[in-house]
Amino acid sequence: MSAGGGTLHVVSTPIGHLGDLSPRAVEVLRGVSAILAEDTRHTRGLCERFEIRTPLLAYHEHNEASRVPGLVARLVAGESFALVSDAGTPLLSDPGDRLVRAAIEAGVTVSPVPGPSALLAALVISGLSAERFTFFGFLARKGRERTEAIQAIVAAPQTAVLYEAPSRAAETLRELEVAGAGDRPAVLARELTKQFETVVRGTVREVATAAEAQPPRGEVVLVIGAGAPVALDEAALRSLVESWRAEGRTAREVSQALQERGAPRNLAYRLAHE
Ligand code: SAM
Repeated sequence: MSAGGGTLHVVSTPIGHLGDLSPRAVEVLRGVSAILAEDTRHTRGLCERFEIRTPLLAYHEHNEASRVPGLVARLVAGESFALVSDAGTPLLSDPGDRLVRAAIEAGVTVSPVPGPSALLAALVISGLSAERFTFFGFLARKGRERTEAIQAIVAAPQTAVLYEAPSRAAETLRELEVAGAGDRPAVLARELTKQFETVVRGTVREVATAAEAQPPRGEVVLVIGAGAPVALDEAALRSLVESWRAEGRTAREVSQALQERGAPRNLAYRLAHE
């Protein structure tokens, strides 16, 4: 908690269905000095719908660097703001991280009003494991960064979630197929919470074919299932165990670290006590 000053509320707003704006979000949006909005015209529509008469200030990727110092000064002086994006949760492939970091550094309280996000909405209806997952956001459009991201998704030992433009969904799925993930489970979640919500499930190859046959329109999230676990190399694990022992780790710590690397509990215990 800050010693004084205002609060920066990070407020989630609907990704489609307006009924998903929480009562507390409305209360907070009504109560702050200003709402920092990615697109003031868009947020004005939401505010009108919920009779929120708070002034709006533009805060987006093109002005965030210049806006931050003034906003933080006002927070420190005692004003409170609500940060929103056009849809869902700010900072998730949306602006906000600079302001949040600067507010924290200045000792300002940063508090969430959690709610909708396309990331979690797609993950929890995907039917794929939500126990561990990696969020890749939007992939780079081309170049090495894109190739590396594709490889990282293919290698990921957990579910991968990515945002994608509808016109590029099929291409991205094909690239994943070429990189070796063609048989992995995939879900294309489109227009979640909206009138034309559609979920396509299958393998990466099948969902790519479906997206080619009928290019999706609207907003899309791709969820890719984890790959088959890579066979563990016992010799490599043993050399890890030796180096951890040399560091002075206990058998229990070694066993735990092995399990974190995917070793089954029995094997981890055996190697740690050898
Ligand atoms: N911050 C937002 C969130 O928490 O969901 C995401 C913002 S990002 C700029 C926009 C992307 O989110 C879209 O391109 C799409 O991938 C995904 N998205 C947003 N709304 C969606 C919806 N209703 N259905 C499916 N995907 C959606």
